[in-house]
Amino acid sequence: MTQINHYYTELQGSYLFSEIAKRRTKFMEENPNAAIISLGIGDVTRGLPEAVVKAMHAAVDELANPGSFRGYGPEQGYDFLIQAIIDNDYKARGIDIASNEVFVSDGSKCDVGNIQEIFSQDAVVAVQDPVYPVYVDTNVMAGRSGKFNKETNQYENIVYLPCSAENNFTPSLPDRKVDLIYLCYPNNPTGMTLTKEELKRWVDYAKANDCIILYDSAYEAFIQEKDVPRSIYEIEGAREVAIEFRSFSKTAGFTGVRCAYTVVPRELQAKDANGNVVKVNDLWNRRHTTKFNGVSYVTQRGAAAIFSPEGKAQIASIVDYYMTNARIIRDGLASLGLEVFGGVNAPYIWLKTPNGLDSWAFFDKLLSEANIVGTPGVGFGQSGQGYFRLTAFGSLENTEKAIERITKLSL
Ligand code: PLP
Repeated sequence: MTQINHYYTELQGSYLFSEIAKRRTKFMEENPNAAIISLGIGDVTRGLPEAVVKAMHAAVDELANPGSFRGYGPEQGYDFLIQAIIDNDYKARGIDIASNEVFVSDGSKCDVGNIQEIFSQDAVVAVQDPVYPVYVDTNVMAGRSGKFNKETNQYENIVYLPCSAENNFTPSLPDRKVDLIYLCYPNNPTGMTLTKEELKRWVDYAKANDCIILYDSAYEAFIQEKDVPRSIYEIEGAREVAIEFRSFSKTAGFTGVRCAYTVVPRELQAKDANGNVVKVNDLWNRRHTTKFNGVSYVTQRGAAAIFSPEGKAQIASIVDYYMTNARIIRDGLASLGLEVFGGVNAPYIWLKTPNGLDSWAFFDKLLSEANIVGTPGVGFGQSGQGYFRLTAFGSLENTEKAIERITKLSL
């Protein structure tokens, strides 16, 4: 028989969400009348902004007509969208990005998952702990992780950078040589951000130590505070060391529509097996154009409409809606004396479980006593043990109800 890629056998089952579903289903079978509220999922609940819908309808009409029909488009994205991204997300903030540095895709999950394949299999990978699992699993598939250690809940060849209340969720620099560093800000799951000075420390480190930062900024649109960096390219020298990932998923209800983009600066270099210098941008362009045939025209028209004056106003109101939920959760929990993090510049609230409960024990308590589903922090990594994630993506009504229920618990 044909052999499989044996690194796949090192993958741990997607234990977290299947275990949540299992416990939820069991509870519902035993308590069929319970009105469960989910603050666990990372999916959005508002509809698409009107400007997006209008633009997508118009684009469909264009495609219906042979005179304005479009088939395959540029794999990297249409100029109208790339230009709108550059003008609004970068130029307006004083950052120069060229059009051949932007790659439009069908999601940041694919991009943050695929980016590793242009680097050597020997590359040493560092991740924050807790972590968005895609960074780890895609490196497991590629054979960079080594074996999984059930005792430590970690892969032996991955460098984990613990983030907890003790270090204010600011990871320490790696204590050994690494090649690729995944940083996610605003962070999923902790909802925390870095200051410009803290981010500069990482850029300086990457420059001094010849490594590349993979900067996942999928939640950038939720940043509320003025001094929080919105792009790693706000930091001097970042163009030489960082790739940035952005998504329209959470900002504009695109989780189902699918559109995102990745910025790979022309200055970013790596070396081939003979020590020759290679532009990472050329490699990603090659990979992208070989394996991807572009995001649909209709979707890209919808995404471009986000940058129109009406689109911007509608997006602002969606972000405001979710961040109101975040504030309700944060303030509600804090008023009960719980230690809460995040939720200020991100739609995630990360709380320390009360009375030393472990993450799953708190999950069971919330489910059985308040009929609320959240996400146990340990599911994102060992440093998430004793923490719990709630999301602000629910409806306002459910969010208020959920906090009311938690208020009545004895914690
Ligand atoms: N990056 C992070 C940190 C995320 O939390 C998510 C989605 O939950 C993604 C990327 C994926 O985004 P997309 O919907 O663009 O694939």
